Amino acid sequence: MISIRGLRKNYGSVVALSSLDLDAQAGEVVALLGPSGCGKSTTLQLLAGFLEPDGGEITVGHRVLSRAGQVVPPERRGMSLIFQSYAVWPHKTVAENVAFGLQVRKVSKPEIKTRVEKVLSVVRLDNLAERYPSELSGGQQQRVALARALVVEPEILLLDEPLSNLDANLREEMRFEIRRLHDTTGITMVYVTHDQTEAMVCADRIAVMNKGGIEQIGTPVEIYEQPQTQFVASFIGRSNTIPVRLVERGVVQIGDLSVRGVDDTSAVAGAAVTLCVRPHRVSLSRAPEEPANRMQGRIERAAYLGETRDYLIELTDGTRIRSLAPPEAVHAPGSTVDVFLPVSDCRIVAQ
Ligand code: ADP
Repeated sequence: MISIRGLRKNYGSVVALSSLDLDAQAGEVVALLGPSGCGKSTTLQLLAGFLEPDGGEITVGHRVLSRAGQVVPPERRGMSLIFQSYAVWPHKTVAENVAFGLQVRKVSKPEIKTRVEKVLSVVRLDNLAERYPSELSGGQQQRVALARALVVEPEILLLDEPLSNLDANLREEMRFEIRRLHDTTGITMVYVTHDQTEAMVCADRIAVMNKGGIEQIGTPVEIYEQPQTQFVASFIGRSNTIPVRLVERGVVQIGDLSVRGVDDTSAVAGAAVTLCVRPHRVSLSRAPEEPANRMQGRIERAAYLGETRDYLIELTDGTRIRSLAPPEAVHAPGSTVDVFLPVSDCRIVAQ
């Protein structure tokens, strides 16, 4: 439905987007996830029609909405945008806030009433319709903003860090709320966030952005389980990222040990690559059902974290690796341990 091809945007000499390609299917939630400054908001502003691209194209269906020198204005793009500062009007009731967009569009009074009631029930505010924003919690105010965006029945909802002004508990609740809202309405969403849990809860697919481009796009499971770059492996969850040399396809060298892993690279023997393995997959006891790389190390640092023990281990060649082990695995600093890296959890990615 949404197709972005070769999108470029500079601010003076700053390259905000270098050449971005992205597709979203109708009814899909796509999250743009990445660190501050990677170009997420710029992408969303371009999608919304507030910015003009320097190159490339945005189309929705067969309609070209943006290219250099040609931008369909925001109000004619069939999109609603929600920001982190949800700015509901303080002197209007909830129902009046939501009705406003329809009044501007000259929708008839009876229809406004029906649509406002319907959307307020979708965001679960039907019993608060006559309240003023000052009488609502932060989460309820954010729902007013969501209702206001949805009532005009946009084809596409754009969300820019919509939960970042809420406190942690509310944020957690609202993630599920936004996903539920999507499942109720089936609306296509593009969701900008720097919070990986938010992206994982809300999105069907996550586009991980870095330095003005997309590093990897996939389902939350694919992004977490099969990171294709070192950046994705360390940005999504925690990961040991160890610079190594490729011996042959699927085999790398740590010290004088060969370590087998899943190799998605097209690197040739001798190339510098990175071995990624999640700390909770680094085991200090053998899991018999799984083929694993075995090595020896010395516990350098240990901490008890309740649900796990956090160990920093120095392998015999000096490589340091972190293990999050079950709390029953007790090892004192200075002691020698066997370290097992399950082959299927060792990912070999480009450096
Ligand atoms: P994100 O949303 O991922 O934090 P942005 O899209 O806001 O990233 O910014 C991408 C890059 O463009 C950053 O380097 C940022 O400093 C720069 N940038 C954004 N807006 C402007 C602007 N109005 N003028 C100059 N540089 C900008």
